Amino acid sequence: MSPSLLRLSQGQLNLLAACPRRFQHVHLDQLASPVSSEQQENMAWGNRFHLLMQQHELGLPLTELELASEADLFDVVQSFIAAAPELFAFRPAAFRPAAFRQSEHRRSLELQGYLLTVVYDLVILDAEHAQILDWKTYAKPQNQHWLAQDWQTRLYRFVLAETSRYLPEQLSMTYWFVRSSQPGAIALQPQSLRFAYSAAEHERTRQDLTQLLNQLTAWIDGYTTGTEFPRTEELRGTCNLCQFEPRCQWDIYSSSNPLSAWSDMTDIAEVAI
Ligand code: SF4
Repeated sequence: MSPSLLRLSQGQLNLLAACPRRFQHVHLDQLASPVSSEQQENMAWGNRFHLLMQQHELGLPLTELELASEADLFDVVQSFIAAAPELFAFRPAAFRPAAFRQSEHRRSLELQGYLLTVVYDLVILDAEHAQILDWKTYAKPQNQHWLAQDWQTRLYRFVLAETSRYLPEQLSMTYWFVRSSQPGAIALQPQSLRFAYSAAEHERTRQDLTQLLNQLTAWIDGYTTGTEFPRTEELRGTCNLCQFEPRCQWDIYSSSNPLSAWSDMTDIAEVAI
């Protein structure tokens, strides 16, 4: 596989950083990950929420059928819009001249032979500032440090800085958390978390990205000649939470045929990541 053909999203960078072997299993071995019915339900809810937000942004009213069948979801959208009026009072008169806003805004950046791709839930660009907005259909996390280090936060601001005329200090990324962590429960008040940006952070991200992508190139080269990507999660003792554990356990602990362990997983309904 030529690295020049490989598109990378923030999700793939997170996977790669967490465990290169897991990245290999998903993206090179193309082994699908089992997803629970609860996860599927949450993903479907999140997808519909994003579509409704996009629909609202385009000024398209919901049909009666949608209103009837998705009343709960519609209520969440409405309470979110009410909680952040500054984001949605976007009629031309309310905004500075030359403001640009778009939902599902896509950008790509070539770096180290890879195509880094981002999709912003909403961008608002004006003469002075560039805002990236992202909707999260779970509760605001208690520990916010991990989100600052998450590749979505880092890559989204990096790509916008690299593909626009804005200085890093003019950029920000804001997450809006619209749903409670309790299954089926709805957060009474959506909450936000804003990450500013700086030239120093931009350069740190460039260095970290360059290092990670160089590693990926070396791992792909090794893979084409039969060397598997390295495992890292086993060192942190979290492999028992990974769906690929049976496969990894085979060559960690056993010289027996792995298929006996791996075959247990083939009975589980799978969907692609
Ligand atoms: S079992 Fe551990 S080492 Fe193997 S893919 Fe999963 S996290 Fe990585």
